[in-house]
Amino acid sequence: MMDFSITEEQRAILDSVDRMMAAHLPPDQVREYDGRGECPPGLLRRFGELGILGIPFPERFGGLGGDWLTVTLVVERLGYHAAIAASLYSITVDFGGMSLLTYGSDAQRAALLPPLIQGEMQFSLALSEPGAGTDAAALVTRAERTAAGWRINGRKTWISSADTAAYLVTVCRTERGSTGNAGVSILLVPPTTPGVHMTRLHKLGNNSLTSWDIAFEDVEVPADALMGEEGNGFRHVMSTLQFSRSGQAANAMGQAQAAVDLAVAHAKDRVQFGRPLTQFQVLRHKLVDMQARVDQARLILYRLAWLMATGQPCRREAAQAKVLASETLQAVASDGMQILASSGYAAESPMNRILRDSRLYTFGEGANEMLRDQIARAMGLVPR
Ligand SMILES: Cc1cc2nc3c(=O)[nH]c(=O)nc-3n(C[C@H](O)[C@H](O)[C@H](O)COP(=O)(O)OP(=O)(O)OC[C@H]3O[C@@H](n4cnc5c(N)ncnc54)[C@H](O)[C@@H]3O)c2cc1C
Repeated sequence: MMDFSITEEQRAILDSVDRMMAAHLPPDQVREYDGRGECPPGLLRRFGELGILGIPFPERFGGLGGDWLTVTLVVERLGYHAAIAASLYSITVDFGGMSLLTYGSDAQRAALLPPLIQGEMQFSLALSEPGAGTDAAALVTRAERTAAGWRINGRKTWISSADTAAYLVTVCRTERGSTGNAGVSILLVPPTTPGVHMTRLHKLGNNSLTSWDIAFEDVEVPADALMGEEGNGFRHVMSTLQFSRSGQAANAMGQAQAAVDLAVAHAKDRVQFGRPLTQFQVLRHKLVDMQARVDQARLILYRLAWLMATGQPCRREAAQAKVLASETLQAVASDGMQILASSGYAAESPMNRILRDSRLYTFGEGANEMLRDQIARAMGLVPR
């Protein structure tokens, strides 16, 4: 028999997430920080105090030794309260922690995982470049060997939360003359290193998740900044994509459920033509369809989490979950705005923020067009 229940322990963790968010980042503060384009300070520390950053990591590093379904439930719940909370959690756990766990050295894990789990250390992924977006393997940022380590020159763009990161997980070309997936390595670069110049980017949504264009001008890092095998960096990044894709999908599902709940509450409350909006069948049906879409996409996401928790292959399922969750979020945010109308369009409405934020997820973390091609390949529809 299939079991859709969550454990007592998972329920307790989610309740503690709810209490922490209500106390430290209630809806009015989410709106204020978004309006100011600031990341709420101290949020990562709160996650650390709660212990949720340690869920997927072994106990010897201070983690909880939990499974990926629990991580997924937590990210979804954080996204329900505030996209920035889920994003900050995911970039640190997925790009930092899971990368260290999967291909970091023993010394890097021992030094960096405990502070990460405590919420003392945030990581950001520096992969995208002006000429390398969806086609990430087109990256040209170079790192060359020096007597003491590495010297980096190039430019990264749209790097999230780089200003508060302890380390930029920086993907560089280290083999002269190489192209595509080959000859790429990963270096851990503190953004405070001389030669790192950051310029803030302004955007449509996700304003609390700060975005940065980063120039690397003769940036020197030591030899032990190398994470993983030299020349194998691109494959290392690809080997952890299921974590970040499931993180994006879970964040999107949390926001999608928030949009549905806002629309339901509004439709029950708002009276036009002498009756609540729920008394119009067309709107009732719209709300039903919105919830059904969210439930469908969530099932695909939880199945992915189960595959990950049980160590099964899941590349195709990770792509599917991300595509479905991101498109569901966009659809329900748009329908929710229609139901809230002027109330949702108002600057102070959370629906306003969810609609703006929702546009990111169909092209971020792998454009859905490219992911559909990946799924098509897995289905044998495209010659390899
Ligand atoms: C808010 C935000 C946060 C981000 N955070 C990070 C971060 O932390 N770290 C990081 O490294 N990057 C980050 N990025 C960059 C993000 O990963 C890229 O925006 C994404 O990869 C898409 O690249 P692009 O914007 O250059 O679009 P392009 O690659 O130029 O794509 C443009 C359009 O063409 C479509 N397209 C591209 N290739 C194909 C194809 N093969 N088939 C069909 N259609 C295709 C795309 O879907 C898209 O609609 C962030 C971006 C944003 C906006």
